[in-house]
Amino acid sequence: MTAQIIDGKAIAQSIRAEVAAEVANRTAAGKLKPTLATVLVGDRADSAAYVSSKGKACMELGMGSISEHLPADSTQAQVEEVVIRLNADPKVSGILVQLPMPAQIDEERVLSLLNIEKDVDGFSPVNIGRLAQKGRQPLFVPCTPYGCIYLLEQAGVKIEGANAVVLGRSNIVGLPAALLLISRNATVTVCHSRTRDLPGMVCQADILIAAIGKTEMVRGDWIKPGAAVIDVGINSVPDATKKSGYRLVGDVNFDEASQIAGWITPVPGGVGPMTIAMLMKNTLRAAQIQQP
Ligand code: NAP
Repeated sequence: MTAQIIDGKAIAQSIRAEVAAEVANRTAAGKLKPTLATVLVGDRADSAAYVSSKGKACMELGMGSISEHLPADSTQAQVEEVVIRLNADPKVSGILVQLPMPAQIDEERVLSLLNIEKDVDGFSPVNIGRLAQKGRQPLFVPCTPYGCIYLLEQAGVKIEGANAVVLGRSNIVGLPAALLLISRNATVTVCHSRTRDLPGMVCQADILIAAIGKTEMVRGDWIKPGAAVIDVGINSVPDATKKSGYRLVGDVNFDEASQIAGWITPVPGGVGPMTIAMLMKNTLRAAQIQQP
């Protein structure tokens, strides 16, 4: 079998086009421009790059963006003050606190301050708590797992009743992905670094979401024939043929798995573009909640 490739880039592009059209409708109707505020503390190059790509996406979709950049030695009180100010600012629809923050900052306390109506990353305790409880709806679903589920739905993969295996239990990907699959009536197994017999777990999966950050660890012979494979991992490997000297690969060995799976996401071009698209969708939703 040769798997159907789930084209995250194209699907993300269609979400962005829908968001841009709705943003244009709202601004033409005299409503506030949906605006994302990012809070970056410190000088991590990867975090700065993520924040800048989020600002760029806002601009491309006709949305506003505000960037708050604090020095690496900021105090807890200084970071909290920024969040409190953005919470109170009616021009700000959504707030994204870029993680990780420097060690002296208590991230959980910062996230718990976020106005739930502006928590477009969906990481505040209230949003995660609602996601975890049966019959409750979070206002915002964390962007990367939201993107994973959206890709499965767009590809026409049946989630209800499926055996789903999630590799990884991080707060930002694995855990919320598992909660979303449960809410859609999959039977979910969550695996992590202490799981015994990972291949034995993975081979039972009709749906596999891999989010462990280990280069091509999942091999083709772990995959159940016909399974849907969503590869969240982003790992760089040396590649002398590239100008940059490296290329990106996932947590799944794509060449092997694509011979066995029914559907598979590539890396890059799978889950990656969905994360920002879902953030834009969540920011628009925040604006719609605040100003119907
Ligand atoms: P993380 O916080 O480091 O969590 C990794 C998870 O994988 C942990 O639960 C860990 O288990 C588990 N794990 C690590 N090694 C394992 C092994 N050998 N066997 C089984 N489980 C193992 O990572 P993350 O933030 O969730 O990110 C995961 C990957 O997704 C990374 O490659 C990251 O770059 C990528 N990512 C991509 C996007 C995107 O937009 N596409 C967004 C976010 C993250 P323990 O809990 O036991 O430690």
